[in-house]
Amino acid sequence: METAEIRRRWLSFFEQRGHTVVPSASLVSPDPSLLFTVAGMVPFIPYLTGRETAPYPRATSVQKCVRTLDIEEVGRTTRHGTFFQMNGNFSFGDYFKEGAIRYAWDLLTTSQDDGGYGFDPDTLWATVYEDDDEAFQLWQDVAGLPVERIQRRGKKDNYWHTGQPGPAGPCSEIYVDRGPAYGVDGGPVADEDRYLEVWNLVFMQYEIDQVRSKEDFRVLGPLPRPNIDTGMGLERVALLLQGVENLYEIDEVRPVLDRAAELAGVVYGGSTVDGHDVQGAGHEVDVRLRVVADHVRSALMLMGDGVRPGNEGAGYVLRRLVRRAVRAMRLLGVQTPVLPELLPVSMERMSRSYPELATDFGRISAVAYAEEEAFRRTLDSGTARFTAAAEGTRAQGRRTVSGDEAFALHDTYGFPIDLTLEMAAEQGLQVDADGFRRLMGEQRERARADARAKKTGGVDTSVYRAVGDTVGAPVVFTGYEQTEGDA
Ligand code: ATP
Ligand code: MG
Ligand code: MG
Ligand code: MG
Repeated sequence: METAEIRRRWLSFFEQRGHTVVPSASLVSPDPSLLFTVAGMVPFIPYLTGRETAPYPRATSVQKCVRTLDIEEVGRTTRHGTFFQMNGNFSFGDYFKEGAIRYAWDLLTTSQDDGGYGFDPDTLWATVYEDDDEAFQLWQDVAGLPVERIQRRGKKDNYWHTGQPGPAGPCSEIYVDRGPAYGVDGGPVADEDRYLEVWNLVFMQYEIDQVRSKEDFRVLGPLPRPNIDTGMGLERVALLLQGVENLYEIDEVRPVLDRAAELAGVVYGGSTVDGHDVQGAGHEVDVRLRVVADHVRSALMLMGDGVRPGNEGAGYVLRRLVRRAVRAMRLLGVQTPVLPELLPVSMERMSRSYPELATDFGRISAVAYAEEEAFRRTLDSGTARFTAAAEGTRAQGRRTVSGDEAFALHDTYGFPIDLTLEMAAEQGLQVDADGFRRLMGEQRERARADARAKKTGGVDTSVYRAVGDTVGAPVVFTGYEQTEGDA
């Protein structure tokens, strides 16, 4: 089933059940505390917190989302995109737990001929919050789910709140068992690869305060009119219904991956044996192709929503995505500009659901291609500096490029550490990565001290600049955002 059809069925299912269809909000978060829209509920925050009265009792949407926290997962797990679409249904003091569970179960298990997604009920599992006996019982009564396939989890996984005093409540997540070939028995608690999370139901039913951490807060009491917030991963359902291995192989993403492989003259799938991922010779090639496919799409969608490359905030995230995609292609051996080859392919697929991408493509592509050109120049000047550093290292009879050199390359030329590592390896050299990291840490400390001194609010972009971005490199990327919530 095509992704566009999964989306269409979603909206029509909930529209037929009294939900107002609300168009996706921009990826640039309407909520000032977030850089991006990270979940379907973000545009509804004023209604869910009771700050404003919802103009409808029920709503549904397919929301564009960006989660930069997941950037390190991209290409390595089967299920994380930096951009993805979250299908949501929302109740503002209207139906509650039973209704939410019933709708989810019906849509997932109704046959495809009858307008549903047609999942085999025997493959579905649910988790509930450990104290939520009501949900535990409803999964049995409403869905007929056997107790062995309902697992209890603690606050870390199955409790939602914003980190602020206000509404909160238990969650219940729905997982699809992909079968023994994908991992071990034992349900989602045992294995999140075999059991793929597709849908999160949030039951906002309490008011909390004294929030000290994800798991440490005080429950004040029940909300007078509890709300429902759910999020289903459109791409995750697509990968299952399209019978592909991962999110990067679905109809909306795969064409970019294929074009990237063609440009690089490599065959995608070298890391799979019988369809399953193995760590091996082709693994890094496959990861890079997936990263390219993901990042090109995310960059397209961000630019479609008016984000321009820049040195802070959303613009910086966009810049990073473009750079990572370009660099991954370089690491695959492609020296020529890649976005003119890849961006139109992504636009062609995505404009089927977002037609404005096609009408706006002149503007979007001009911005994107200029950004790639600028980065190519950075790479070119950094490459000359790298060559000098490598020669200097050899001339001194050393085999290791110093941390100082790696840091200078990064700091002065914006030259990513993994590229330094890779190019050094090509020349039979190593890099003092520990030294590099120490210098990065010192710079980060200086930046923090600066920020403290300035007492600026908002996003401290020096943090982002100070962390190397990575495609398969050992430097940990700590994310672009300070706050990202769950669904
Ligand atoms: P995971 O545990 O797999 O990282 P999550 O618990 O962080 O997912 P939620 O915050 O519950 O995800 O979001 C609701 C739904 O959105 C998930 O059930 C999933 O289907 C989808 N989703 C979340 N993050 C991503 C992502 N990075 N890419 C694609 N789909 C996602
Ligand atoms: Mg997650
Ligand atoms: Mg999860
Ligand atoms: Mg979840």
